[in-house]
Amino acid sequence: MKTRELLVVGGGPAGLAVAIRARQRDVSVTVIDARKPPIDKACGEGLMPDGVALLQELGVELTAGDRRDFVGIRYLDGATRAEARFPTRPGWGVRRRTLHQAMVRRAEDCGVDLRWGVTATGYRDGVVETREGSFEARYVVAADGLRSPMRRLAGLEGAPAKRRRFGHRRHYRIAPWSEHVEVYWQEGCEAYVTPVAEDQVGIAVLSDDPGRAEGSWLDLFPALAERVAGAECVSRNRGAGPLRQRASRVCSGRLALVGDAGGYLDAITGEGLSVAFHQAFAVVDAIEANDLPRYAREHRRILRLPDAMTGLLLAIERRPRLRRRVVAALAAEPDVFARFLAVHAREAAPMSIGAGGLARLLRRVIAGTPASGSRSVARPVA
Ligand SMILES: Cc1cc2nc3c(=O)[nH]c(=O)nc-3n(C[C@H](O)[C@H](O)[C@H](O)COP(=O)(O)OP(=O)(O)OC[C@H]3O[C@@H](n4cnc5c(N)ncnc54)[C@H](O)[C@@H]3O)c2cc1C
Repeated sequence: MKTRELLVVGGGPAGLAVAIRARQRDVSVTVIDARKPPIDKACGEGLMPDGVALLQELGVELTAGDRRDFVGIRYLDGATRAEARFPTRPGWGVRRRTLHQAMVRRAEDCGVDLRWGVTATGYRDGVVETREGSFEARYVVAADGLRSPMRRLAGLEGAPAKRRRFGHRRHYRIAPWSEHVEVYWQEGCEAYVTPVAEDQVGIAVLSDDPGRAEGSWLDLFPALAERVAGAECVSRNRGAGPLRQRASRVCSGRLALVGDAGGYLDAITGEGLSVAFHQAFAVVDAIEANDLPRYAREHRRILRLPDAMTGLLLAIERRPRLRRRVVAALAAEPDVFARFLAVHAREAAPMSIGAGGLARLLRRVIAGTPASGSRSVARPVA
């Protein structure tokens, strides 16, 4: 058994980002993953602009043909439509398999020791057990996803969440009709449409219903069903959940949890990948400084804003009347929506939303701006 500096359990986006970042800092690293590349997964496949920037810093290359830029977010709620653009740069729509292939290529080029088809089955103090033998390292990062076996093996499982939401996704062969990620709001569920190629869109649906898998959910979104009517479905349904997972702590001894393994609230804001990349940078900084508790502090800081935004959207999502008013208010206040989006993409500070804009938005929500036919297009906000 050879002792290496870093062992990463889970070679998804979070684990590979950690490994590539570690190699950029000259840390020796092995990645083990139960599956073999390219790995697919249920995901909305929209990478927010800050995630794009981090991916580029890692040196991961995706050609224009591998991805599709999106310029912002559009909410559709009945006849109401509100949209806003990112302030400086686009996000990327990219199929998970394509993203995974690109990250694996980069990891190989960086000299990461990649072991596919190796499943972690046990853990104690820096030693990971697998059927292929034990792996020991000075530090272990568990990036083994939402249901994280490592989190359980290390005794870091948090209390189960009361509300259980699930996600499903499929792809359709059709030219994207929007340069935004579209979010269709419906009672008890939302559909996300992400352009992922010049002839393909991904549709992810989030809801409380684990069984809403086999395409029937599209009936709940008539406008969307009409859009993709006749288009060939080019991927099989993939699901994930329950989405909400808690970790009691993200560090213990020589182990750190990164990505979904460290706890997850919901996919409603579509930023799990970006958050995982921020965490990957933070954990490597902490390992380099020999100060893992520093990662725990950074983890809290990184999640503060996404958790607040996610909590807000989940609260709105559960209340259809309020949701309709909020979407209508955003449609009527496009510049405020753009400021929220800039904050969400970590391109502006929360204070930049401004008390005046917030007050106007709230007044409209309370008054209930007419919803029918509202439409907004926000200017980018620097
Ligand atoms: C429906 C849905 C829509 C989403 N939409 C978006 C979106 O639009 N944008 C966005 O940024 N995020 C989105 N997310 C969130 C995003 O998919 C996740 O945050 C992201 O995949 C987290 O990556 P990860 O590497 O932590 O986990 P994963 O991608 O799950 O990778 C975990 C890896 O660990 C491996 N593994 C598991 N157990 C073991 C074991 N015992 N031993 C070895 N290996 C193991 C698995 O094989 C896997 O490769 C969405 C999520 C869902 C469910």
